[in-house]
Amino acid sequence: MSIEARKIRLLMQLRKSGVTDTRVLGAIERVPREIFVPETFHDQAYEDMALPIGMGQTISQPLIVALMTQALEVGDRHKVLEIGTGSGYQAAVLARLCRRLYTIERHKPLLDVAQQRLAQMRIHNVTAKAGDGTKGWPEQAPFERILVTAAHGGIEAPKALTDQLGVGGIMVIPMGSERRKQRVVRFRRSDAGIEREDLWPVRFVPLLPDEPEGDASAAHRE
Ligand code: SAH
Repeated sequence: MSIEARKIRLLMQLRKSGVTDTRVLGAIERVPREIFVPETFHDQAYEDMALPIGMGQTISQPLIVALMTQALEVGDRHKVLEIGTGSGYQAAVLARLCRRLYTIERHKPLLDVAQQRLAQMRIHNVTAKAGDGTKGWPEQAPFERILVTAAHGGIEAPKALTDQLGVGGIMVIPMGSERRKQRVVRFRRSDAGIEREDLWPVRFVPLLPDEPEGDASAAHRE
């Protein structure tokens, strides 16, 4: 089956599974997922599954990327913060939908590769940095939207992140201490405070504090 045929099949699956936002489907259609996965997995780029990207991390399953992006209700005037750049795939999808994306990754080697891919796609509205995303990006706050793509183990949302969410803002974040009991949670900030909505169950790699040690050597190991 050609890449194009596989992509169409995937888009049909996403629609069937509840992705109805045509802007989100359009963005998924326009981002070539194969350039964000290691070469050995190219033939699986349009299967609806998570794939390894090195450093013990994964590129999320396309359905989860699509549903989380849809839940985020991103508009083209929005300034968006993503925590967990990983392969850069979700960043590319968000960048197609918003005005400006800020993205943070704790593994510098992953970030470097992600940035090369975004440049290759001529995506110029993304600012990326290596660091601990749980602290947010205070110099750039407030954000209209925040998307976290690693699971937060706490019961409450990370305060640094809700603090950096503007009034009227939305944050989508997987939460739950046990890997088997994670849920995607949506927070909406209004004048009255912060409203929480639990969405569907997921399995994400953990959101880890601080920056890792010894990344430079680890990069060669993959
Ligand atoms: N959005 C990514 C998914 C990557 S998986 C994609 O489309 O490919 C989650 C990523 O979050 C991993 O790369 C992991 O290293 C990163 N991560 C975990 N904790 C983090 C933190 N505190 N700050 C920034 N990135 C973090």
